[in-house]
Order: sequence, then structure tokens, then C-alpha cells
Amino acid sequence: MSPLHMRSVEKFKPRLSNIGKHGNLGYIRGMKTWINTGAKRKVLYEGKAKTIYEGPEPGTVIQYFKDDATAGNGAKHDIIAGKGVLNNRISAHLMTKLEAIGIPTHFMRSLNMREQLVRQLEIIPLEVVVRNIAAGSLCKRLGVKEGTILTHPIVEFYYKKDELNDPMVNEHHIVGFGWADPYELEEIVHMAWRVNDYLNGLFAGIGLRLVDFKLEFGRLFGEYGELYILLADEISPDNCRLWDAKTNEKLDKDRFRQDLGNVIEAYEQVAERLGLIPKGGIVQGGSINEQLAASLGEIENEVAEQRRLREVNKTSPNKPRKV
Ligand code: C5P
Repeated sequence: MSPLHMRSVEKFKPRLSNIGKHGNLGYIRGMKTWINTGAKRKVLYEGKAKTIYEGPEPGTVIQYFKDDATAGNGAKHDIIAGKGVLNNRISAHLMTKLEAIGIPTHFMRSLNMREQLVRQLEIIPLEVVVRNIAAGSLCKRLGVKEGTILTHPIVEFYYKKDELNDPMVNEHHIVGFGWADPYELEEIVHMAWRVNDYLNGLFAGIGLRLVDFKLEFGRLFGEYGELYILLADEISPDNCRLWDAKTNEKLDKDRFRQDLGNVIEAYEQVAERLGLIPKGGIVQGGSINEQLAASLGEIENEVAEQRRLREVNKTSPNKPRKV
């Protein structure tokens, strides 16, 4: 086991019961959901597709998923109604699954249809891309035919710097410039392989090919100054390429990048196959079925909570003991 590996970050979870005392979040019992009560919140970071707000407790932040879609480092921009809701749901689901197989993530719980509570991390300025099939920039850079199956997955690193268009870097740049030390880098690569193995299987099971994806990581410091590397950001069709296993139809952000149309339908298709939304979707004629979206978020939290209790109880799923 690497020195940085952490099996459980449970003890660092703030007490969620305190949330209501912090002003901007309120719990609606009837709807079993957290909402933003309208109190002014401090924006910590305004991204292209997400906004990060100050969290209700020290060590937490709120990740808000916007409908904005951008490509070419912001050169192309549009609003895709419902995209943020779907990415919030999909990412919450995948992060919960990854946490359950022992990959520590920043995800704590869904708050409402566009927001999730996550741990505040010191973000490592790297985009870690894992590729199974050639597509996108790999094809452009090396003149490879799109769809070429790689005999071994490829991990690439990009330095997160908008002004420089996120240039590709290697391990020596990362260590040499101190963006991560060799132990952190080893942990990052190890986690990226595990995420790839797990997600490959998960998507194959619902008839999707995981072509490639991008991950981000961050540091969490424990109460005695110990350091943990956690998976951060999101995992959704915004930062994965997903193709239908039979037809190779693109069901990800390439539909927007390449003007293929039916962007939201593709994202809904992914959410539907993951069992997160009912057939027919949650976006009708550009507007979202908000009640349905909110109630689905709560179901995800209950599933996560049951999984946590099962781990505590070490009993079968059907006979949970009281804790
Ligand atoms: O463009 P490229 O082929 O390098 O992208 C590889 C993967 O990383 C794709 O799944 C893409 O969605 C994702 N990516 C991302 N954010 C970036 C660059 C790439 O999510 N800034």
C-alpha cells in the first residue's frame, strides 16, 4: 500500500446535522431535499461549467453544476438546458460507486438537483486523461484514425492553465515544477488505472464504450497534518467520451463540440442506462421536470447512506442491523 493511500476518509466528514445552522442551506422535510434558501453565498471559483461556493462547514464547498457548455477553451459557448442537472446526478452516482470500491473522492452528498456537497481540497493543477480508444486530440496530434483500439490504455497529463490552453506535460515537468511530488504522482496514476478498470466494466455493462476521460485530484490534510490524495471535480459526459457499444454513436460532449445535435438527449441516454432517470428523460421541450429531478437526487443519497450503514454493520443488504 502506498504511503498516501487512505481507505476511509469517514473521520473527516463534517457533521451534516449542522448544515442548517449556516445560513444558506435549508432542509425541506416534505421533499427530503436541501435547497439554497437565497442567502448570499461566497463564490470561491467560477468555472466554465461549474461554480464553487463556500460550504456550510469548514473543509466543505458546494459544487454547482451549470448548463453552460464550452469547447475550445471557451471559444464556443452555449446553454444546454438540463445539462447541469444530469451531470450532477451522473457524477454523484459514479463518485459514490468509486468510493464504495475504496477510491477516496471529494464527494459527500447531493444537496439538490444542481448542487453537491464536497470536501474542500487543495487542487493539484493537472488534468489526468486516460484513453482506451483513440479519439479527440490524440488523433489530431499523432494522425491516428479515430476508433483505433489501444493495445494498452494511455495516461496523459495536462497542466491546468487556461491562458496556455492546458499544455500536455510529462512526469518530469510535474515533479520538476513541484505540481506534485513523486509519491503523489504514483498515487494519482494508481488511482487513474483503478478508475479506468472499474468504469470500463461499469459502462460495458450498460452497452457503452469508455473511450477516454479526464480526472482531477486534490490534497486533503488530516488533523495531524497527514496528506491524502482524493479524486475531485466530476465524472460525466462533459469529461468522458462514451460511445454506444453497437453503433459507436457518440453520447457525450463531442455532440456539442462537433455540432452533432441532440446533446441533452445523449446525456439523458447515459443517465437512463445508469438507471438514474426514467425512460423519456427529465427534460421536456427545454424545461426540466424539477420535482422529479429533486426526488431522484434524494434516492441517490439514500442508496449511498444504506451502503455506508452496510459497511458499518457488515450485514447482508436485506437485513440491516440498527446502529
Ligand atoms: O480533447 P482530448 O481528446 O484531449 O480529451 C480527452 C478526454 O478528456 C475527453 O474525454 C475530454 O472530454 C476530456 N477533457 C476534459 N477537459 C479538458 C480536456 C479534455 O474533460 N479540458
